[in-house]
Amino acid sequence: MASLYIHFPWCLAKCPYCDFVSYATDRESIDHAGYADAVLREAEGRVRQLRARGNSLTLGSIFFGGGTPSLWEPQELGRVLARLRTLFATTTSLEVTVECNPTSLDEARARALHGVGVDRLSIGTQSLRAEQLKFLGRLHDPDGARLAIAAALASGIPRVSTDLIFGLPDQSIEDARDQAFALAATGLKHLSCYQLTIEPGTQFGERKKRGLLPMADDAVVADAFLAVEAALESCGLRHYEISNYAVPGEESRHNLAYWRGDEYVGLGCAAFGFTRDTASGGPGARRGVRWRNAIDPKAYVEATKHLRTDMLGEGDGVSMFAESLDGTALLRERLMLGLRLAEGVDVGRAGDELGLDPWTPERLRAIERLEARGRLTRTGDVLTIPRPAWLFADDIASRLF
Ligand code: SF4
Repeated sequence: MASLYIHFPWCLAKCPYCDFVSYATDRESIDHAGYADAVLREAEGRVRQLRARGNSLTLGSIFFGGGTPSLWEPQELGRVLARLRTLFATTTSLEVTVECNPTSLDEARARALHGVGVDRLSIGTQSLRAEQLKFLGRLHDPDGARLAIAAALASGIPRVSTDLIFGLPDQSIEDARDQAFALAATGLKHLSCYQLTIEPGTQFGERKKRGLLPMADDAVVADAFLAVEAALESCGLRHYEISNYAVPGEESRHNLAYWRGDEYVGLGCAAFGFTRDTASGGPGARRGVRWRNAIDPKAYVEATKHLRTDMLGEGDGVSMFAESLDGTALLRERLMLGLRLAEGVDVGRAGDELGLDPWTPERLRAIERLEARGRLTRTGDVLTIPRPAWLFADDIASRLF
């Protein structure tokens, strides 16, 4: 099963913690139709490229992310979606998600998105506290977030999720827990809860470098993570991935596919894509190619007019970089992503698919050491990280490389 990601690179303002490719602008300055045309030109080219390489994907999900794709005029987003559905084979249970911000989502817009085939909204609430939203540079207030969630739920869109950020400076464990409870009480069946991370190159990153950013205490953040988990699990939302909770059956299929190492086609300015390199590489998924599109919107739109369909990745005219990944690199990526999941990663199966023996003596020794410290569990071929150790997932995965 493959998935499709479409990046919409504009927001009404740039949040100081954000390291996504997004440019601040007003709605009127966006060329809504021109960007849709460019994405469709790229989609048609990518389909030709993939077919020429013997790769005919079947999509289980389509995800409009950003940026703020709820700023995109729904008829233009709908035009893109309708064409994508004819270009790619899709499963009958195709999931179509649009990321939204409270400042660009009301009931009319949610209904319009539903009308063009969207069945899932992901709303960027981030906090229900006015002072925290101000610190995060968000344009909405707590009422705006609540109204957007209520509008989405009332619109008839069948699936709605929202994001919460915890681990803010001076935030108490109880405050993080109470906000999780409050969001669960709205009736949402999916929540993404992220720890605030300070990335280099962001406004917060610059302030941290100059010692001007207040930082949360690590121990409080770790306890807040566990308090949020306990709150949401008590409301029936299962902690299925480090940052994600869902009523069983309501998990994000798009993100699950990504964490499980499935193929994804990225369309739009700055989008990443990853497909199996069937043209050059032996059986199954032994090699893969990952690419990233041009990050400047104007350059991207122009480049789509010259997409070379005989190439995939660097040199195709739209991608600014591409890398070929061998089985060893792909296995490391599966470990890194799969260990984020409660279900863990089936290392034996991954090895079979990638055509290599994953149980090297070094890896077996690392597994033994991690198991002895309570940081890893092996059940047959499946590796999982016990919940209390989830906060160390990246470090644990890297020890298995
Ligand atoms: S709204 Fe989202 S994508 Fe846009 S700047 Fe803020 S965090 Fe980044």
